Amino acid sequence: MYSEEEIKKAAKDIINSEKIVVLTGAGISTESGIPDFRGKDGLWTKYDPEDFTYSRFLQNPAKYWEMSVELAEFLLTAEPMPNPAHLALARLEELGKLKCIVTQNVDGLHQAAGNTDVIEFHGNLRRVVCIACGEHFPHELALEKAINGELPPLCDNCKGVLKPDAVLFEEPIPRHALERALQEARDCDLMLVIGTSAVVYPAAELPRIAKERDSYRASLFGFSSQSRVLDYTKGAKVIEINAEPTPLTGIVSDYLIEGKAGEILPKIVKEVEALLGY
Ligand code: NAD
Repeated sequence: MYSEEEIKKAAKDIINSEKIVVLTGAGISTESGIPDFRGKDGLWTKYDPEDFTYSRFLQNPAKYWEMSVELAEFLLTAEPMPNPAHLALARLEELGKLKCIVTQNVDGLHQAAGNTDVIEFHGNLRRVVCIACGEHFPHELALEKAINGELPPLCDNCKGVLKPDAVLFEEPIPRHALERALQEARDCDLMLVIGTSAVVYPAAELPRIAKERDSYRASLFGFSSQSRVLDYTKGAKVIEINAEPTPLTGIVSDYLIEGKAGEILPKIVKEVEALLGY
């Protein structure tokens, strides 16, 4: 469980940083009622991750859409709302202390909370894309077709198969999102890593890239990878806010504030406001 000292320490680190990038995962949205994957009530206790690979989708898109009708209850019909953690990040942006958010989430809740620069690393489940012509449509349209028995739902333009515009396992990260996220990770001086188990790659690599940024720059100036010495004291600071330790804890992250993001983030932001004189 976190302490008030850790809250104050994080607020000071935020005040002392210029370029703050946030990486979020499914854990920031559990308090909005959307289950995560690997947490204790995660979706993988109910579904087989193998059914969410791109090759399975191509083999049997109808089966994917059958599962999707069930999953959509959580993500669309329940109309999840941003929770205090999302709202605290929106406030941090208003205060000029947040450059951008890289999110692995596909729920659109950071934008709903008011953040304006959100890099959607794994796409967005509120859209679908036709795998034949590339046209995008709102997810509701495809879901309505699926609920009415059109399995898989087809594109109105070309009759190609519709796929959620979220990245399935095995699928590449959208190029523009990958390039920007890498750039932001290399440039930041503080990365807040919130509600991610940090086991899904390449997203889990971003805190490492932030931490190794000075050795990365050294390599641009001609050092070979063998002569590259990692000095974690030179890179960006990395703070984790998570319900449990992750593979980053104690290795890549400077410290973990353990507990619920919806409690911890508003406290940190309140402390930042106080330090800024609000
Ligand atoms: P994950 O499920 O692997 O891990 C979530 C982490 O957050 C866990 O360590 C868990 O203990 C922690 N957590 C849960 N509730 C928390 C809370 N209230 N406060 C702080 N921490 C909390 O999620 P991941 O690392 O993001 O990877 C899963 C992938 O699944 C992502 O790539 C994402 O695309 C997708 N996904 C997205 C959503 C969504 O959009 N909301 C939901 C489920 C899965």
